[in-house]
Amino acid sequence: TGMFATELDTPVYRGTVSCNTGLFINGKFVEAAEGGTIDVINPATGQLLTKVSAATSKDVDIAVEAARKAYKTSWGLKVPGVQRGEMLMKLANLLEANIDEFAALECLNTGKPWSESRGGDMNLSLKTFKYYAGWADKIHGKTIETNEQKLAYTRHEPYGVVGQIIPWNLPLTMVSWKIAPALATGNVVVLKPSEITPLTALKLAGLINEAGFPPGVVNILPGLGPTAGAAIASHPHIRKIAFTGSTITGRKIQEASAKSNLKVVTLELGGKSPNIIFEDADIEQAIKWAAIGIFSNSGQICVAGSRIFVQEGIYDTFMQGFSRTAKGMSMKTGDPFASGTMHGPVVSQTQFDRVMGYIDSAKADGAEVFVGGERHSLSEGFFIEPTIFADCTPAMKIVQEEVFGPVAAVIKFRTEEEVIEMANDTNYGLGCAVFTENVSRAIRVSNALEAGTAWVNCNISAEHNVPVGGYKESGIGREMGEYAIDTYTQVKAVHINVGLKI
Ligand code: NAD
Repeated sequence: TGMFATELDTPVYRGTVSCNTGLFINGKFVEAAEGGTIDVINPATGQLLTKVSAATSKDVDIAVEAARKAYKTSWGLKVPGVQRGEMLMKLANLLEANIDEFAALECLNTGKPWSESRGGDMNLSLKTFKYYAGWADKIHGKTIETNEQKLAYTRHEPYGVVGQIIPWNLPLTMVSWKIAPALATGNVVVLKPSEITPLTALKLAGLINEAGFPPGVVNILPGLGPTAGAAIASHPHIRKIAFTGSTITGRKIQEASAKSNLKVVTLELGGKSPNIIFEDADIEQAIKWAAIGIFSNSGQICVAGSRIFVQEGIYDTFMQGFSRTAKGMSMKTGDPFASGTMHGPVVSQTQFDRVMGYIDSAKADGAEVFVGGERHSLSEGFFIEPTIFADCTPAMKIVQEEVFGPVAAVIKFRTEEEVIEMANDTNYGLGCAVFTENVSRAIRVSNALEAGTAWVNCNISAEHNVPVGGYKESGIGREMGEYAIDTYTQVKAVHINVGLKI
C-alpha cells in the first residue's frame, strides 16, 4: 500500500515524516476492499496532505475475523500478563524513539502547535502506554469467603474483540487511551481513528509488529463514521465498544449496540464545562487558567471551560486580564511549526464553519463580542481568533451547546448558590473548574457540581493514572487509571465444591 512521506525543515523539527496510508489488518497494511480513499488535509494551509484508504463494512468484517482468530489462538489469557505488558512496553519504547516524528505528523494533520503536540499529547500518550504495560500482570479477581465446603473466586476476563472509535482532537492520545488498557487486559482491538486525523494512528500501526503483538491483535482502520464506524458499532462479534466523540454519535453507538448484540458500551462524549471564578480567587492565576481552559488546542477539547462564570465584584478586572491574554494569543496564532506559536487553526473547513456559525448565533442573540469573533487575518488555513463573549445569559445557544472552538461565553453571577444552579443547568457533565482561595468553598462547590472531573485552581489537565469520564449526557464509564481496567474486563464468579456431597 501507499506511504505518506514529506521532508520538514522547521525551527522545531527537521527531517522526514512518514506513515503508511493503508488499513492495518491482521498485521499487514492493505488497501480497502472497495478501494475507497479519504483526503487528509493540513488545517494550517487547507491543502491536501495525502489520501488514506477508507474502510467499509467489508474491511471491518475481515478485521473482526482476524481479531477473533488472534483472540482464540494467540492472545487473551493465553498470553500471560507479563508478556502482554512487555509488548506494550516495547511499543512505548518504539514510540519514544520516534516521538519527535510522531509530534510533527500530529502537527501536520491537526494544526495544533508543536508545544502542545510534543509537550502535551505525545507525552501523555507515552505515559499511557507505559502505565498500562505495568498493569498487564496486575489484573486479578478475589477469593470470596462463603463456607467451608466451597471455594468461590472471581476472574477478571477480557471481552474478546473490542471496537474502538475515536475523534480528531487528540488523535494519538485517544489511540493510547483506547488500545493500551484493552491490550493490557487481554482484549483484541479493531480501532477506527477519525477520518480527519488518521495519520499518527497509522504510524503507530507501523510499530505493532515490531513490538511483538501477534497478527490480528491490533487492527487500525481509517474510515468514515456512517460506514466503517457504524459497522463496528453493530458488529455481532464485537463484544464491547469504547467510543469517544460527540453526544449525537454516542447515542447512535448505544442504539446500534442495543439493536445488534447488546455489546457493552462506554462513551466519552461532549461537554460544556463551567469555570467558576469567585471574588476570593487569585485573579491573575484564574485568568491564565481560564485562558488555558478554553483556548488550548483552539478550544477543541472535550473538557474545555467554555462557560466562564465570574462573580460580579471582580468581573471587570477579570475581563480586562482575560481579554489581554486572548489578544496575546491572537498575536501568536499561525504556523504550528513556528517557535512561539500558541494558537493553531481549527481542524477542518467543516469545524471552521460550525464554530463561525456559533459565533454568529451569539452575536444575533445579543452577546457582546469582547474580543475576537472573526476569522483570523492569516491568508490561508482554518484560523479563528480567540473569542470572548461577555454578558451572556443562560438561554443563549452559545451557553447551552458545545462549540468545540476557541470561544468563551462569560456570565456574571452574584452568589455561590446561584452559580451552582446555573453551572449545573446543562445536560452535559464532563468537567468543571473552581477558582477560590477559600478551601471550604473549593470543596463545597466542587462537590456540588455535576461533573466527572473537578479542577480546583487549575484546569483541563489530564493524568494517565487519574480517571476521566462524564456525568449525565457526557458519557458512560471511565477511562484512564485503574478504573479503565474494569471497563475492559468482565467478572466471572467461580464456585468450587470442596467436599459437599448430596
Ligand atoms: P464525532 O462524534 O463526529 O466523531 C467521532 C468518531 O465517531 C469519528 O471517528 C467518526 O468517524 C465516528 N462516527 C461518526 N458517525 C458515526 C456513526 N454513525 N457510527 C459510528 N461512528 C461514527 O465527533 P468529532 O467531531 O470527531 O469529535 C468531537 C467530539 O468529541 C466533541 O463533542 C468532543 O466533546 C468529543 N470528545 C470527547 C472526549 C471525552 O473524553 N469525553 C474527548 C475528546 C473529544
